[in-house]
Amino acid sequence: MDYAVRVSHYLDPATFELSRDVILLLVGGHVAEVITGGEVSGGLDGLAMQTLDLGDAACLPGFVNAHCHLDLSHLHRQVPRGLAFTDWARAIISGRQLPEPIIQAGIDDACSMLAATGTTAVLDISVSGDSAPALARHGIRGVLGLEVLGEPSRAMQHCDEVIRARFELDTERLGSDAGDAAAPAALPGIEYGYSPHAPYSTGAELYQLAYGRAFGEGRVCTTHVAETRDELQFIGDGSGPFRDLLAGLGVDLSSFTGYGETPITLLLRDWLGPWLPQGAPGVGAGDPSLQPQADAMGSLSLVLVHANYPQGQDLQWIERTKPTICWCPRSHAYFGHEPWPLREYFDTGANLVLGTDSLASNDGLDMWGEMQAAVQAHPGAPRNELLRMATVNGRKALGLPTDIADLAIWELPPGFQNLELEKLLNLWVGQHPRLVASFSRGQLIARAI
Ligand SMILES: [Zn+2]
Repeated sequence: MDYAVRVSHYLDPATFELSRDVILLLVGGHVAEVITGGEVSGGLDGLAMQTLDLGDAACLPGFVNAHCHLDLSHLHRQVPRGLAFTDWARAIISGRQLPEPIIQAGIDDACSMLAATGTTAVLDISVSGDSAPALARHGIRGVLGLEVLGEPSRAMQHCDEVIRARFELDTERLGSDAGDAAAPAALPGIEYGYSPHAPYSTGAELYQLAYGRAFGEGRVCTTHVAETRDELQFIGDGSGPFRDLLAGLGVDLSSFTGYGETPITLLLRDWLGPWLPQGAPGVGAGDPSLQPQADAMGSLSLVLVHANYPQGQDLQWIERTKPTICWCPRSHAYFGHEPWPLREYFDTGANLVLGTDSLASNDGLDMWGEMQAAVQAHPGAPRNELLRMATVNGRKALGLPTDIADLAIWELPPGFQNLELEKLLNLWVGQHPRLVASFSRGQLIARAI
């Protein structure tokens, strides 16, 4: 065994039940055994190579931040508040031109912030794969959604260059194109997926190239969609602030008059329809055998980000196709969006997750902060559902099994005996507990001293 860890409370990631007096045995990146009730009379000695007796502490699944842009971290508190989305986007595009060392320093700071606040895995949107070595150095599990937008073949070519430079030199597929380049150093725990940017910046062909690749390779595909009402307008009839933004960036819109559809339905029914389950909404409710087999079809690993403004048939298409949907509560509040349709999305049966978005529209990367903002927006939301969104639902989206040793261990108030998860979370969502230790892939990545 690599580690034996004793805690007073442990939340089982499969059942979401709290148990008391637990020793966890970690080996090879997994939780190999959970010993409950203090049955090991001799204590921790001899159980593993390393032992940690953490006393009054609760071990929860590590946080999964399902949407961030670590390569925008250098813009933390650099963008004026209160900008319209399209003006904010212009500022971000300028901010991407800053020198590489500044961008790298921002990524490194952000990784420290993640590790210090119990995040053990991220789905990071990445333009050039810059966050891969930093995440690996900090021991955080990462899936990089490699961002593609614009002209399709050039976008996929850039994406392949990033893959060759950062992840793998697939000589079998590349043949002589691989040249003499050396294969990049392996980055343990870091994978890549694909991220077509958004329907307003990325057309059907590029979505299909990227999603087809993700589907065929069993990788995550994530995209922004229906983030603003301006986006609905542009996708619907080609008009509004997005037209000005894109025209200003040199995009030829002379023949574009919109798609006459909402962004979510356009994606789920038309552009990605060939890959997604298309069961009829409401059919077989209560009978799992008649429901679309979301897991088998891989639609959990389609992560729609924001989806702030479902309209028309959107909820039905979400119910049919069962994607993962990511809410970024603090970034949502930053832009002053209308309330996120949490209840409506719960009812579709989609896999709901939480993310922070970037530090250019958020003041931190702490997932307790996201849960707190979620509660402020929806005071009645069950705290344990929010914790699922912040932890195990993210694992599902990333295709991670439930027994992984991705753990965040939090200090309990003195004398705390209660086993009611809802009460504990209610306390913590308001107060941000102190992190005692965290593990990603079975390795210790943070430890309070
Ligand atoms: Zn984003």
